[in-house]
Order: sequence, then structure tokens, then C-alpha cells
Amino acid sequence: MPCEVNTRFVILYGSQKGQAQSIAEGIAVEAEDHGLVAELSCLNQSEKYNLEKEKAPVVFIVSTTGDGEPPDNALQFVKGIKKKTLSTDHYKHLCYALLALGDTNYANFCNCGKTIERRLQALGAKQFYVTGYADDGVGLEVVVDPWLEGLWKAIKGALSKMASDKVDPLKGPSVRALAITDSKYAPSPVLASQSHDTATPHVPLAASLTCSLPPLSQSSLNVPALPPPYLHVSLQDVDSREQTVGHLNNENVHEVPIERAIQLTTGDLVKTSLLLELDTSAYPTMTYLPGDSFDVFCPNRATEVEDMLCRLGLQDKKHHQVHVSLNKDTKKKGAQVPSYIPPSISLLYLLTWCLEIRTVPKKAFLRALVEHTGDTVQRRRLQELCSKQGATEYNQYVRDPGLSILEVLTAFPSCSPPLCLLIEHLPKLQPRPYSAASSCLKHPGKLHFVFNVVEFSACSGRPVGRRGLCTGWLFDLINPGKPKCSGSHALPKIHVSLRPKCSFRLPSDLSVPFVMVGPGTGVAPFIGFLQQREKERQDNPEAVFGETWLFFGCRYRDRDYLFREELEGFVTSGVLDHLKVSFSRDELEMEGNEVTTSVARPRYVQHNLLLHRQQITEILLKKNGCLYVCGDAKNMAKDVNDTLIEIIKTQLQVDQLEAMKTLAGLREEKRYLQDIWG
Ligand code: FAD
Repeated sequence: MPCEVNTRFVILYGSQKGQAQSIAEGIAVEAEDHGLVAELSCLNQSEKYNLEKEKAPVVFIVSTTGDGEPPDNALQFVKGIKKKTLSTDHYKHLCYALLALGDTNYANFCNCGKTIERRLQALGAKQFYVTGYADDGVGLEVVVDPWLEGLWKAIKGALSKMASDKVDPLKGPSVRALAITDSKYAPSPVLASQSHDTATPHVPLAASLTCSLPPLSQSSLNVPALPPPYLHVSLQDVDSREQTVGHLNNENVHEVPIERAIQLTTGDLVKTSLLLELDTSAYPTMTYLPGDSFDVFCPNRATEVEDMLCRLGLQDKKHHQVHVSLNKDTKKKGAQVPSYIPPSISLLYLLTWCLEIRTVPKKAFLRALVEHTGDTVQRRRLQELCSKQGATEYNQYVRDPGLSILEVLTAFPSCSPPLCLLIEHLPKLQPRPYSAASSCLKHPGKLHFVFNVVEFSACSGRPVGRRGLCTGWLFDLINPGKPKCSGSHALPKIHVSLRPKCSFRLPSDLSVPFVMVGPGTGVAPFIGFLQQREKERQDNPEAVFGETWLFFGCRYRDRDYLFREELEGFVTSGVLDHLKVSFSRDELEMEGNEVTTSVARPRYVQHNLLLHRQQITEILLKKNGCLYVCGDAKNMAKDVNDTLIEIIKTQLQVDQLEAMKTLAGLREEKRYLQDIWG
């Protein structure tokens, strides 16, 4: 008699921005088509799963956030499995597969996934499928798609093995595991045939967002499966005009006035950097330390909200109340009405404050849009962009230029998605974090921050460039071209919330030397550090203070050298011992009295670090000092990291691996700290 194979498996996800969650949900939906039963939980829903007793295969989908930290909803789980008291056979009954999401632009790539994996193995768990490490820096799908394709066979293999392992060994070879059949499912993704709209022999000269060329335009396509809608959305004719930003007024979110706005850059060829001073004096509990960051809550642009309402054909219903509920017959595992949609809100409020309508549509979203597109040529192009064969063009025309869903809809005018589709696919409108650029000691009741106005240039699908959502909104709010910038009550209020405590802090021991590396707006937290240090020096005249170094970089001395006066003032007062500035575009550079030519001059912070390699090594490896890096994750943080490895290699005369280990050790000891973004 064949043994019975269980069909149940568990999916656990930890997700910060919803990507890991949506992959996990996708697996849960597809499971049924494979004849499997998925139990889906978020890692923080510990009441819903029990790994201590779990016998079924467990699939982990986890992302990494910040400086290699677990997402908020995986924190407790990671803390739990790291406990030293757990024995090495704690999870010996467990078999798992793991998909880790990360971004190689940041240090500690996929660190959360790697930590979970390391601990599971140390606790005796067995892996049943190769771990996937997906890199958002090049496109998650490069790893995620093939990983998901192979997952089903692996789960079935694990289930069959478990069933046969359970069978009484005395029965020996006569026992046969029952294979789980694929019969309910067409395992290969839907094959979309090419549009036969070939009446016009016109062949475009170049591909674009809306046009494709052979071979893609002639190839058969594998497009993702289309899950049925799981939300039911209705609009009620109750005027909800009175709706304000009510859900922002929770105890941690404060509405504070912008007291001052200063443009820190001048002239062409540089980004626009602005400093805002917030008056937080009405909230005495809103205390922060230099190195902390806080969230700014911004709405979607009113014009874009109107455009979206038009595309949905709902302009005249914008004040109607939105009711979102689960489709009664949905089979989607773990289906929930998104928690970030409060009850009784108007449609206008939903599109203004709740959904990220600037989101870059994922392939699954494009796939769903196909069903609501009338024109066959446009349908075909959307199919191509979400297909396996069109992956490169998806990256080129949608992902890399950061095309928003509204821009995609504008480019495909025959596409009219229903509101429920938008609610299912658009993530929560996230607040934007900014680093404090001040110290409470120097500016009591004030909070400063600095930002660059992000610019997205025009491209195929975006006829006119646009600004980043939050930075563009702040820019419009303060309107730096107008003279009111210095008047205190002339400027509006914004909603902010301090972020949970971080480890990007000054050394508590005043005598510890430290090095700060912060080009551009990356200098922000260091202004806070130095203001704090200045005050500490005044308060402790007898104390011994560690040496301080700042490596700053910008394009031109006279256009974007942020905080020049303040920084030079710190040098004069002795708060900052060494200020090393590199200008990437100035032709001649002066360092002290020394004039260097463009050949020898340090163009970027990492070049200046190299020039001072001996002192850096001394501080880090002999004097137990710290090194902080803040700013652009994409290029600078990587280059600085590589330079530090180079410095350790040459100074200690060790090989690459040894140098990397040394740097990892410093990171572990929290003496090499990063606060990076981009
Ligand atoms: P969006 O409309 O959200 O578009 C952002 C997109 O633009 C990104 O996906 C990226 O691809 C691209 N982009 C281009 N240039 C940048 C850039 N310079 N920063 C971010 N994205 C860019 N920013 C500051 O200017 N000052 C700070 O002190 C600061 N501190 C931060 C601290 C933390 C902990 C984090 C996570 C981020 C921090 N940021 C800071 C980045 C900031 O939160 C926003 O991402 C940035 O201001 C862009 O927001 P936006 O809404 O205008 O752009």
C-alpha cells in the first residue's frame, strides 16, 4: 500500500516594503494549482505557526533593511533564533528553503536571510532547496523567477521524502511514496500568443516603452499566472469631504511647523540641496540624538491624484466613501484588507495619503493590466513587458527609469483598470526618512535636516522630467524662490515621526577618536555629531577628546560645499581636527597652501581616504576608533568600503580575504557604521 504524502507546507515571510510579502503570497496562491496546501504567516504572527513542532517543509521569504537589519516584522523571530541557550538539535526535525531579498548597493547583502539560514543550520534544520539570494540592485526577478520555478518540485520532493521517512522501516522497499500530481495545473506559465494585428506593415525604428522590435515582437511569451482579484471595493455616496489626515495623528506622529528653509547650493550643474529647520518645541518628548533619523509623511501630488481619478473614470466620485472588503470566495492565502487603508475614508484621501501611486509597477501588476486593456497592440506590449522573454525591456523601460503606474497608464491609453486592482497592487505610501542634521544641545526644540531635490529625467514613457515625491513636495511647500523663506510663520507644517533608536551614534567615551565620511547630504548626521561634540567640549573643559576627521566631498567649492562656514568654524574651534574636502569637478584644488593639479588631486572621498591611509589605519586598528559613513548607497558607500579593504591590505600587508575579515570584524564591533540610502 502506498504511503500517504502530506500536501501541507508552511510559508513564513519577513518584509519591510511588501516585496517579500507579495512573493510569499504569490507562492501561497499558486500552491493550490500544484495540489499543495500552503499555510502563510508573517514571521511576527508567532501564534499562527510553531516551528518547534513543525514537520512540514517551511519556506522562508525574507528581505533585509537598513544596515543589514531584519525587517521590523522579523525582528523578534531573528532575536529568538539567535538565543545562545538553544541546543544544536533544536530544529533537527525542520526542513526548510529560503529566499533572501537584498540589494548589493548596500553592505551586508541579504544579511537577514543569511542570519536566519546560519542559525537554522546551527540548530540542526535541513535545507531541502538551494537558497536564493535576490538582488534588487540588478532586479529581484533575475533570481526570484528561476527560484520560484524550481520550488514546486523541491517542495514535492521534500514532502515525498518525509512521507517515506515516516514509514515503518520494516516494510522496506515495498513502500512506495505517492507522487503528488500536477494534473490540476498547467505547470508552464500561460503562453501568450503574439498579436496578429499585423495589418500595418509599419516596423518601428527603435524599441520604446510602447513599441517592440523583433525578435521580442515575434516571440511566444511566458507571462506570469493571473490570480483572481481578492478584494471587493465599493464606493458609497456619503460625502467624506471632512476627512483630514486623521490617521497621521497617532501618538508618534507630530505636526510641526517648518521654521526656516535655506537653500545650501547655488548655480548650475549641482543638485538643489535644502536645509529645513523644524520647530519641535511643542513636543518636549520628541528628543533625538545626532545620528537618529525621522520620517516625513508626504501626500501624493494633487495633479497626479486628479489624473489617476480621471484614468479610473471616478473624478465625480472622489468624495465618496471607499469600502474595501475581502471577496467572499477568495482562495488567496492570508488575504487581508490592507491595514493601511483606514475605514470610512474618501476616494480622494485614499489616493492622496494611503497608496504609493508613484510605485513602479511589478510584472504581476502589468500582467493584471493586460486584462483591462482594449487595444490589441497595447495588450501585446504589456504582455511582453511582464514576460520572461521581455525581462530586459521591462528593466530598460519600466524599472530602471522608475516609471510610475500613472506614467504606464498614460502610455497605454486603452488600459482602464478597476479601482480594486490598484488597491491590490499599489503598496502603502511610505514616509521618507531623513537624518537629523542638528544636535538638541545646540538647537533645543529644533530639528534640522538636509536633502537633495531628487530629479527624474524625461525618458520613453515620461515626456517631461519630474521631481521625487517627498523632496518635490517639500520643495513646492517652501518655494525657495520666494522671499518668505526666513519668516517663521510663513511656512507650513509637516507631519514627522522619530524612527526607532539606531546604532549610528557618537562613541560614548569622549576619548575615542573617530572618522566621518559624508559627501553631499551625507554630511547631515556629522553636523549633528560636531554640534554635540562642541557642546560636550564646553561642558567638559578638562576631558580628553579623541581626534576627529571628516571627509566631505562635492562637485564645486563655490556651488555645493554644504555647511562650509560651519565646518570651517569647527576646525577653528578645535572640535574638528581634520577636514578633508574633495571637489570632483573643480579643475584646480588647494589643500592648505599646496596646489595640486587635476591629475593628483583627490576627486572623491575615497581618494582622500587613501591619501590618509596611515592615520585611518592607526585610528581604526591601533586606537580602537570608529569610522562612520553616510550618504549615497549606490556608488559612494561601495567605493569607500573597497578603499578601506585596500587600505587594510596595504597597511597590514595582508591578503584581500584577511582585509575583508578585519573590516567585517570592525562592523561587528560597531566601529564601522553606515547610514546609507539611495
Ligand atoms: P521618490 O519619489 O521616492 O524617488 C526615490 C527614487 O529616486 C529612489 O528609488 C532612487 O532610485 C531615486 N533617487 C535618486 N536620487 C536619490 C537620492 N539622493 N536619495 C534617494 N533616492 C534617490 N535623503 C536625503 O536627501 N537626506 C537625508 O538626510 C536622508 N536620510 C535618510 C536616512 C535613511 C535612514 C534613509 C533610509 C533614507 C534617507 N534619505 C535621505 C533618502 C530619503 O528618505 C528619500 O529616499 C529621498 O529624499 C527621495 O525621496 P523622494 O520621495 O523625493 O523620491
